[in-house]
Amino acid sequence: MSERVDRATAVALPETLAVAVAAATDVGGRPSNEDAVLALALPAAPGQPPAFLLAVADGMGGHADGEVASALAVDTLRQAFSGEAGTDPALTLKQAFRKANEAVWARGAESADGGRMGTTLTAAVLKGRYATVASVGDSRAYLLRNRGLTQVTKDHTLVAEQVAQGVVKPADARNHPQRNILTHALGTRAKLDTRLPPVYELTLLPGDRLLLCSDGFFDVLEDRDYADALLAAPAADAVRALVALATGRGATDNVSAVVAEAVPTRVPTALPVPAGRAGFPVAAAVAVAAILLLALIAAVLVLGGFVGL
Ligand code: CA
Repeated sequence: MSERVDRATAVALPETLAVAVAAATDVGGRPSNEDAVLALALPAAPGQPPAFLLAVADGMGGHADGEVASALAVDTLRQAFSGEAGTDPALTLKQAFRKANEAVWARGAESADGGRMGTTLTAAVLKGRYATVASVGDSRAYLLRNRGLTQVTKDHTLVAEQVAQGVVKPADARNHPQRNILTHALGTRAKLDTRLPPVYELTLLPGDRLLLCSDGFFDVLEDRDYADALLAAPAADAVRALVALATGRGATDNVSAVVAEAVPTRVPTALPVPAGRAGFPVAAAVAVAAILLLALIAAVLVLGGFVGL
């Protein structure tokens, strides 16, 4: 009987996630914005969950070269995913980073500075509840779960390496005078180091926020600031509030943020009644069972009384 379901019964399917994404960037304390951002819904393959491509790139170089480098890296990434998220986002991300490195390197060789442009790139592919993150440089991905902020990516900076080696204390890294010196970037060498980019895999839970951001935030925001801003409003408003908070605190650099919010949702659905069983509603079955049970109890009581149990 437990297999039978009345046609009108609403059933909550296992919790599914809807994902909202948004991006914001601001020139901050610089004369021009060398950051580039991307928050893009990818074409959904038949039968596949919705997918998104997110990215933050922070360019560097003389004149307008930083802007060129970051835009080129993001465009190369976008083209690599123009089909769809694919079956192996990690592999597509790795290939895209190599192409972006080559594209920025080639453009740098044509520039007046002779190849001195470069860019960070932190990117994420969201597919259903799974997020695949890759990063080169010091733009970061953070996971906000409940109110806890965790840095997903490792910084490719001299100071981060020195912290890992125990040479610099973690507490001293934030204000270290050499904190902005990168050990890896895209476009500064002809070929990207074969170990790059590192790839991080996450499973999103309802209410999680995945934040990608450039380093313009790091000097002016504390962990609780990210949490406060991201939890106060839906993704589109939250990401603008986060950038406004950093500029309001006097960020001296460009500030860019991309957010994906895993919005919990339940989908009520009426299950179809299996063929051949539709004529026997659950309520009737319960009533019949109850009557039979009462009759059995009554019979036991009568029998018990009769035999003196
Ligand atoms: Ca920057």
